[in-house]
Amino acid sequence: MENNKQMRKWLDDMNLPHPLVIAGPCSAETEDQVLKIAHDLKDTDVNYYRAGIWKPRTRPGNFEGVGAIGLKWLQKVKEETGLKTATEVANRNHVDLALEHDVDLLWIGARSTVSPFIVQEIADALEGTDKIVLIKNPVNPDLSLWLGAVERLASSNIKKLGVIHRGFSTYEKTKYRNIPEWQLAIELQSKFPDLPIINDPSHITGKRDMIFDVSQTALDLNFDGLMIETHHDPDSAWSDAAQQVTPSRLVQIMQDLRIRKETDAEAEYNSKLSNLRAQIDVIDNQLIDILGKRMKVSDGIGELKKQKNVAVLQTNRWNAILGKMILEGESKGLSEEFVLRMFKAIHQESINHQEKVINA
Ligand code: PEP
Ligand code: MN
Repeated sequence: MENNKQMRKWLDDMNLPHPLVIAGPCSAETEDQVLKIAHDLKDTDVNYYRAGIWKPRTRPGNFEGVGAIGLKWLQKVKEETGLKTATEVANRNHVDLALEHDVDLLWIGARSTVSPFIVQEIADALEGTDKIVLIKNPVNPDLSLWLGAVERLASSNIKKLGVIHRGFSTYEKTKYRNIPEWQLAIELQSKFPDLPIINDPSHITGKRDMIFDVSQTALDLNFDGLMIETHHDPDSAWSDAAQQVTPSRLVQIMQDLRIRKETDAEAEYNSKLSNLRAQIDVIDNQLIDILGKRMKVSDGIGELKKQKNVAVLQTNRWNAILGKMILEGESKGLSEEFVLRMFKAIHQESINHQEKVINA
């Protein structure tokens, strides 16, 4: 995309001394709640005050947002605190109302990014706007959908464009609400290096005590900002109660985060190094995760062998696996010696697991 430099410029022009911070409640609930949290965040590093007005809920019957009345409360936030405002838009009507009420930053939610028709409708409604528009990743780990949404919005001549990484849903139960799949965000960054990318640790983790770590990883990966759900009484929030933090906790998180600035050659080297190291950390975690999964499958085989009273070690099968993996390894630049040693270790662990199952 040739207007890349243009895209990045809006964030650089803000000349922030720290990454962009967007904070505020998941949902606007009452006027008092919206104003109370905004006043708590007024003299902090928060740049944009977020509040969901229309809440796309996966299942009906949950709180679906207060609707357009909430936009008046956001206007009041701006008047009383000077904070700029942000909300989610999911159709043309939302866009028209948000623009009418002078919301400064609009984002497209994960459930909308999956739908090209909706994205196009929003892009058409936003044509030529000078507001900031951020596109959340789609709920499913599909890079093309995310890229497609960026392309649709960019074609609508929106200058201040960016993306939000909020993780991806899976059928599997994990410690995350939405698994980060960092490599997807890294891939998007490398396709559009000048598109600002914001991390949303709230929707990735679903739990307030994990927010600091995910935020730090994002900064280590050179993300440009954070969007963190913040509520004065998180446990009583009408939506996403478990993941919201209090304003004072948010201030603490922002104080404790290590922010890496790129100012000179040395800093650039350090920043590149920490970016690569963060990628290694992500991959190492995936390795451990995948090995854990392999051993679980192995336990299942142990159960079967126990029922049938079959020996743990099946030499033919083992030799076949090794031969295949040596070839696979070669195609990825891994030496035969390394593949052999690694698989010997994996195989030994697998045998230990099965022995344990069989002798249990
Ligand atoms: C939100 O930001 O409150 C929200 C609904 O997020 P997402 O679209 O990432 O689920
Ligand atoms: Mn939320």
